[in-house]
Amino acid sequence: AGTRFDVAIVGGGIIGLSIGWKLRKRGLSVAVFERDVVGSGATRAATGMLAATAEVEAGEDDLLPLTLASQELWPAFARELEDVSGLSVDYKAEGTMVVALGREEVDRLRFRHDLQKRLGLNTEWLSGSSAREREPGLRPNVSGAILCEQDHQVDARKVAAALAEAFKRAGGVLFENTPVVSLERSGGRITGLSTATETYSAGTVVLAAGAWSPELVPEISLPVRPLRGQSLALRMDPRMPALTHVIWTEQIHMAPKGDNRLIIGATVEERGFDKVNTAGGVFALLEAARRVLPSMEELAIDEIWAGFRPTSLDDAPIFGEAGIDGLVLATGHHRNGILLAPVSARAIEHLILDGRMDGPETGFTFQRFGKNSSRL
Ligand code: FAD
Repeated sequence: AGTRFDVAIVGGGIIGLSIGWKLRKRGLSVAVFERDVVGSGATRAATGMLAATAEVEAGEDDLLPLTLASQELWPAFARELEDVSGLSVDYKAEGTMVVALGREEVDRLRFRHDLQKRLGLNTEWLSGSSAREREPGLRPNVSGAILCEQDHQVDARKVAAALAEAFKRAGGVLFENTPVVSLERSGGRITGLSTATETYSAGTVVLAAGAWSPELVPEISLPVRPLRGQSLALRMDPRMPALTHVIWTEQIHMAPKGDNRLIIGATVEERGFDKVNTAGGVFALLEAARRVLPSMEELAIDEIWAGFRPTSLDDAPIFGEAGIDGLVLATGHHRNGILLAPVSARAIEHLILDGRMDGPETGFTFQRFGKNSSRL
């Protein structure tokens, strides 16, 4: 007991670890507290797409400056992370291909492409045949596609492992298998946190506990909930033409990884913290994959899993102060937490060291959910 850190971070997912690494590099004493092992929450479940442009939806353009800013930070973030940790994060820059089958899907895809162009995004329309030239495994009736060349990918599990290593090598203190049971309060401020056996004081506590974040701060009704995603991985082999791009359809995405796994994801389900894989969920993923990639039928199933996106009321992340001194929020990343890790670390670094955020992250405070807000 009695140990003090400048910053204590609750949650060893990609967000907590990225923030911890960044702050430690700026010279603060930092501890990350993880209930299980690093990356075992949503981070473990993620496909690892850094897909700012393929993801863009009408009405979601508020988020675009933030996702684009983070996408730009990723190549240098990955390089430094690999250098410092000595571990690969499987960064792949082939891009994402969004494909359509049949007239109706092609019409909707054209609409998406028009939206991307209006937003100034650099994407390319492909005919069905040029899509199949680039990806010979696609079914012959794929009749149109958008190529999003700057939408890259990483292996989210490898990123978590590399971040943990980089954080420790920088002198950060990592507690695994150490649930935080409560935040310490004194005179209306958060002064530290307690585990089952110890109390630690901290200048600032950063809450980065993903979908579980609200549990520790009942007094502020943090609008974050778990949104279940089921995914699976197949083992690629020569019976299927090699895939190079991440392939998107209206139903699913398929991401070929460096270790020959093909991740197929993901369902989007309001089921609380019920961590099961359902017959219907897995069936829907496989059926949608076979529709575009017929030869996947022969591939071995490597793994099936489910995870919980930390989803806020408006599907956008929440950075910064929560109206309680000593507490900083970094949660609510929904389906974009891998993409948004570098910009999230930057946001919290600026807030803690300079007293204010800068750039597009300033639009994503907790205060936007206030009483008179249109977002509620
Ligand atoms: P988490 O990874 O959930 O980490 C929170 C951590 O806090 C957990 O490890 C948990 O054990 C720990 N914790 C909780 N409570 C406590 C406590 N009391 N004490 C100590 N520790 C605690 N995003 C993308 O950008 N690209 C993708 O391709 C992508 N694909 C996805 C696919 C699926 C199926 C899912 C579910 C999500 C996907 N996401 C994707 C979203 C992304 O996974 C999340 O936004 C991101 O992982 C959130 O990171 P986090 O660190 O906030 O949360």
